[in-house]
Amino acid sequence: MPSALEKMVKILRLEREQGGKNTAVVGGLSAYASNWQPQAREQARRPQHHILIDEIADELAAYESIDGEGRRIQKLNYLLDRITNRKPAPQAYRDRLANWEEKLKALDDAAGKSGRRGPQSAHSGRRAGRQDRGGSRKNFQAYDSASWDEDFTGGPRQHHLDIPAMPSLSRPPRAPRPERSQEEQLAIMRELAGPTSTIKGIGKKFSELLQLMDLHSVKDLLFNFPREYRDYTALKCIKDLEGEETTTVIARVDRYHVAAGSGGGKDLVVLVSDESGLLSVRFFRQHFLATRLRRGMLIMLHGKVRFFRDMAQMANPEWEELDLGNLRQIGIVPIYRLTKGLRARHLRRTMKALAKEWAAKIPDPIPQSVLDRNDLADLGWAIQQRHFPDGWDHLEHAQRRLKFDNLLMLQLALLGKRREWQAVAGPALSCDDEFLSSFIEQAFPFALTASQKRAIEDIRGDITQPVPMNRLLQGDVGSGKTAVAIIALGIALANGRQAALMAPTGVLAEQHFGSLNAALARAPATDKPVIALLTGALTASERESIYRGMADGSIDIVVGTHALIQEGVEFHDLAVAVIDEQQRFGVDQRAALRGKAHNPHVLVMTATPFPRTLALTAYADLDLTTIDEKPPGRQKIVSKIIDPVARERLNGYVIAQLEQGRQAFFVQPLVDESDSIETASATEAHERLSQVFFRFRVGLLHGRMSPGEKNELMADFAAQKYDVMVTTAIAEVGVDMPNASVIVIDGANRFGLAQLHQFRGRVGRGAHQSYCFLIPDSSADISLDRIRACQAGELAADALNTAEKRLSAMEESDDGFFLAERDMELRGAGELLGRRQSGVSDLQLLEMTSPELIETARREAQTLYEEDPDLRLADHQLLAEYISQVFADSGDIS
Ligand code: ADP
Ligand code: MG
Repeated sequence: MPSALEKMVKILRLEREQGGKNTAVVGGLSAYASNWQPQAREQARRPQHHILIDEIADELAAYESIDGEGRRIQKLNYLLDRITNRKPAPQAYRDRLANWEEKLKALDDAAGKSGRRGPQSAHSGRRAGRQDRGGSRKNFQAYDSASWDEDFTGGPRQHHLDIPAMPSLSRPPRAPRPERSQEEQLAIMRELAGPTSTIKGIGKKFSELLQLMDLHSVKDLLFNFPREYRDYTALKCIKDLEGEETTTVIARVDRYHVAAGSGGGKDLVVLVSDESGLLSVRFFRQHFLATRLRRGMLIMLHGKVRFFRDMAQMANPEWEELDLGNLRQIGIVPIYRLTKGLRARHLRRTMKALAKEWAAKIPDPIPQSVLDRNDLADLGWAIQQRHFPDGWDHLEHAQRRLKFDNLLMLQLALLGKRREWQAVAGPALSCDDEFLSSFIEQAFPFALTASQKRAIEDIRGDITQPVPMNRLLQGDVGSGKTAVAIIALGIALANGRQAALMAPTGVLAEQHFGSLNAALARAPATDKPVIALLTGALTASERESIYRGMADGSIDIVVGTHALIQEGVEFHDLAVAVIDEQQRFGVDQRAALRGKAHNPHVLVMTATPFPRTLALTAYADLDLTTIDEKPPGRQKIVSKIIDPVARERLNGYVIAQLEQGRQAFFVQPLVDESDSIETASATEAHERLSQVFFRFRVGLLHGRMSPGEKNELMADFAAQKYDVMVTTAIAEVGVDMPNASVIVIDGANRFGLAQLHQFRGRVGRGAHQSYCFLIPDSSADISLDRIRACQAGELAADALNTAEKRLSAMEESDDGFFLAERDMELRGAGELLGRRQSGVSDLQLLEMTSPELIETARREAQTLYEEDPDLRLADHQLLAEYISQVFADSGDIS
């Protein structure tokens, strides 16, 4: 006999099928509910059941008075969701739980007493009810747990809207670790290296297909995680489909035929149905699919719904046969990368077995105490759940664990690099207070900021040791990193050693060359140093002579671009190397400069700040110094998003600035990878702006110019021979033009936040109030109204798209560190870390990694590393094996 709840479910569904007309039961649902309630109470055992009954009874009592069939259907869906636990109980009902608990306890006590006292008429009825409750208990439990109860649903998936609840999980479960010897565990870990053909069920043909996807070993396959998941608990009835939505349905194949398609192709038209309606599916030019279909076959379809003459249709949906053997696990289904000839179902089934096998046997290399204190899941569980999540919570816990492992390995690798680097002695230089203070005093026309002084102290501490310095100097644009670099170079010089400064562009190298000359001309030194500039702009013979001077030691300091690390470049005794705007160089290029000498001290500088946690992770091999203040007297740069239609007014404003003797940059939008198109658009902008600013001198700087031309132009701009400079993205890094007070960025929506901030850093370097104007493309989806509403707090921040968020952040702040945090929120840590080219195999996994997890992994890595840097201790053998099996091919990290 069906339980009261089962009956209720049937009635609710029937009512829904009949369109919410209150016709499912004679007399209407409200009347039915009032009769149903006592019967349901008899069967209910737990307070949760009673509050559910309360709620159903209340809602149905009001059912007749609900206006409109649509809203009634909504109510029915809601109640079904409540019964199947897919929706939580409302607070008002949860408040009654304690009450019910007490009541039930009182009843049970009473029943117990009456039992001992023998049958008494007043209690006999209720006792019978109690037995009844016991008998129907499983029906309630079917809803309580997430398990699929076939008895209850009457066979496979007739009513797929009412799949049991998605289980939730607040903490990852922890299983006891099996007793296995170290050797056994290591042996299991090594099995990961075996070819996929060693996996049960994978034959020659299958393993060849896997190889096409670059999956060779057991580890490759086991760690080949789904690219996405489909929530098959969020299925829809055909009747409920809406146009233009992308969704999943389960339906039966009624019939199919091949039809002539447009362009002479043969299409397959399939008519499918569920109990609620018909859906027509068309596979364009895929008539051959007919061989894979059968009438009556149950399939899952995923695609976009369209309506044609009131008929729901899908074109080329993803589809597959419903795996009846798997019905119990229906829920979140993993979607794997595939290759031609490999079926989703086949791979999924293989993965299922593989994940299950390894979940049970993979030894966990991370000590249990580490997992406990950081709320991390077991490795085996995490792998299993990452492939086949039981719920979204489970997936989250699984990902957290796997991300943690990745971060930990990244950290350990970087720490290892650092030690390798420090293992060879470097030149210990001397630098006394007297020298330092007189150098600083004479070299610069300004007093150093406290931050600059701290940075110099850090550097001095490093380079007076016989261990090579490996330091990152982070400081916002305009914070005065160049002065710090010059002092580091000066210390080498005072020790009679060579120094080098590398910058990413010729323009910047030239500028540094100028600053260095000016500073050292003033600095105390008996012999004036020989300083050379090595860029791509030199002739072959000029270059040769500089090479000679560097090799024989007659050149003291060389400033240059990538030209510094070309083959043929040799140093006599390089002691200090500085790399400016290091984010512009690749890992290899930085290593190449180091490699030019015997372990020189290296200082890398960047104006693209990382949030601190991230910097500590990405640069774990470097020591970190941050300049967190700007020289005094700087005014906040006024930043404004300008509607493209207001361009003319803006030009008037710029003219006013120019008339006061200021200068302006006009940055032209990124076009694409090709600099010829970019150059063309900049040239065109130059023509236009020359007319607008006809009373002024307008220059043009683009990527197609020779290094010599570029340098000359920038020198002329610095000498104020131009008032306006139209540039492509080239002006982005480093250049220092204190008289420039306006920068107008066209196509501002196309640039990233870090880049916009770099552009803006071109102005505001002097004492003048400076301005940054951001003009989005008129075709871009940027709404100033929306941005303003968000800034005023009238709209949720989520209402903005990413480009709008970037522009809004630019208006909000000109603090690079604040923007870096914002950037991390917008783009995810993974992408920022990716810039480091760290080579970790699954960088996507790190995307949207929380700073908290990054910090956790860093801390744990540090602890591990301090105790046992080579992972030689017996306790760490397994971890070492795990790293070599799973992370070894992650590429070089330096
Ligand atoms: P960045 O950190 O972006 O490389 P720069 O080193 O180019 O910044 O410095 C920006 C400007 O600030 C330069 O014109 C420089 O001369 C000036 N500057 C640097 N330090 C100070 C200071 N302590 N006081 C005043 N001006 C300074
Ligand atoms: Mg700089």
